[in-house]
Amino acid sequence: MDIAEKDADVNVADNLRTVRTQIAAAAEAAGRAADEVTLVAVGKVQPVERVEAALEEGQRVFGENRIQEAQGKWPALKQKYPGVALHLIGPLQTNKAADAVALFDVIETVDRPKLARVLADEMKKQGRSLECFIQVNTGEEEQKAGVLPSEADAFIATCRSEHGLNVTGLMCIPPVNEEPALHFALLREIARRHGLEKLSMGMSGDYETAIEFGATHVRVGTAIFGERQKPTG
Ligand SMILES: *Cc1c(COP(=O)(O)O)cnc(C)c1O
Repeated sequence: MDIAEKDADVNVADNLRTVRTQIAAAAEAAGRAADEVTLVAVGKVQPVERVEAALEEGQRVFGENRIQEAQGKWPALKQKYPGVALHLIGPLQTNKAADAVALFDVIETVDRPKLARVLADEMKKQGRSLECFIQVNTGEEEQKAGVLPSEADAFIATCRSEHGLNVTGLMCIPPVNEEPALHFALLREIARRHGLEKLSMGMSGDYETAIEFGATHVRVGTAIFGERQKPTG
């Protein structure tokens, strides 16, 4: 498809309003307040103009899944639009932990002991304390990041007591071909056991269901910014 034509089709401001309205409706249907749900706008692989359009509409919480891409885009945008909170929602390699701690505000993908330790060391070094969510591989998928449900309890405890991380929530990405509700319910149950208040779950296709199951953070990309162009290279 012609790219210019495709770009013209995407009205980020309208899409944002629609998503916000649907979040509020889903929250109300679940007997929850709309402001209990934070919209994390996922602008990965999108033209920066679309991300700026969301910023112009007052959106301030964003998710990125790759350090390098975020580094190319966000330092300038953070300067221009004060109050941005950046969530890392993609896998983090330990050799990128320093960069992640410097740029992001919340790491949603803490999922293994070595990463927890390196993150804790980097936060001390940089004098920054980021909120951390533990990613749980609720579908126990081989190729997917996240701690296994059976290992989540021990890992959460270790992150807190041994590494002193500020663990405030859990995150999951359900398998594409399964009913997401089961995964959302499992994540909520693990969080409840640990008194964790934040649940990052739900994407463009299932954020309303996620809100029904207690999501406090929904990570929405395509429904706001349109289909992603495939990353090059
Ligand atoms: C890309 C991405 C999203 C957004 O997905 P959409 O289906 O475009 O809303 C959410 N969470 C994670 C971890 C992602 O990588």
